[in-house]
Amino acid sequence: MGRSILQFTGKIAAGALLLAGLSASAQGPSYRRHRFSIAKPLTVYFMDVEGGQSTLFVTPSHQSLLIDTGWPDHNGRDAKRIMAAAKQAGLDHIDYLLITHFHTDHVGGVPNLAARIPIRAFIDHGPNRETNDAVTEQGWKKYEAVVAGSHAKHILAHPGMTIPLAGLTATIVSADGNLIASPLPGAGQANPYCKGAPTYPADHTENARSTGIVMQYGKVRLIDLGDLTKDKEMQLMCPVNKLGQIEVYVVSHHGWFHSSSAVFVDGIAPRVAVMDNGKDKGGSPSVWDIIEKSPRLEQLWQLHYSDEGGQKHNVAAPYIANLTGGSDGHYIRLSAYPDGRLVVFNSRTGKSTNYPASAH
Ligand SMILES: [Zn+2]
Repeated sequence: MGRSILQFTGKIAAGALLLAGLSASAQGPSYRRHRFSIAKPLTVYFMDVEGGQSTLFVTPSHQSLLIDTGWPDHNGRDAKRIMAAAKQAGLDHIDYLLITHFHTDHVGGVPNLAARIPIRAFIDHGPNRETNDAVTEQGWKKYEAVVAGSHAKHILAHPGMTIPLAGLTATIVSADGNLIASPLPGAGQANPYCKGAPTYPADHTENARSTGIVMQYGKVRLIDLGDLTKDKEMQLMCPVNKLGQIEVYVVSHHGWFHSSSAVFVDGIAPRVAVMDNGKDKGGSPSVWDIIEKSPRLEQLWQLHYSDEGGQKHNVAAPYIANLTGGSDGHYIRLSAYPDGRLVVFNSRTGKSTNYPASAH
């Protein structure tokens, strides 16, 4: 993965930010406010929840959106890891907890988390639809009990609605099997990758009902579709690309082959992709190949080394948060700046990689 990227330490980055702050403070209060609002990043923590999902977005104005909570049990392991990130981000509550769907690797951590930090609003697609799966039904009921026992808002997601976060636009693009009817701003072009593309059978699990979101912060577009499946991807991408190009791809479904069709990945053409795979969950070699070959990719990051991927289908060690045989729980943190610059930090190595604003 020897692309032309500049590595630098977090120490230097902090110094640069301090300098930016000092130079801005000499310019008077109105300029200072302006200067700071431009410089602040949208920060995204990709927690290691061992092949489930939990992704924390902290906005420039310090609002928080947590997408999913990992697994139940393991003595509250995943909730503790989320809390460590929340603490680092300086959060004393979660503004929005969005549950993409009711599989246990996404909703399972809710009771443990809700016992540790106030959650002000829950967002979901409505009732569990996979009622024939006992574990999923149980996970949903436990979630519903937490929501009912809280004083939080309960928001029903539907495609096209936005989550009120200051300074950026967060649009729901999928929920309960429904998708946005019209393209996002700037999108809607014919997708050249549709020609000759395979069709995929309809998925009838909760995966296809995942609540998906696209965020626009300045020039940076980020996408998190939960475990949305290929049949839904095709509807979002063909015959026109309703999403447009995306800078940051939270790889759907932990990098499993049920998601991330070539038509979709090539259409959104991410610069940076982060895969929330586990050691032996997700990280399918076919998906890895599709992402690696996609037209604008600068770097794929993985939360874990994938055993299935082996030597040929894992990125180089500096881009993996948790290596086989090491202690787990390391996270990846991405900072997105409105001019398009991205910085990705690996908590295992302590190093950051800088992706300058793209010319694309
Ligand atoms: Zn999942």
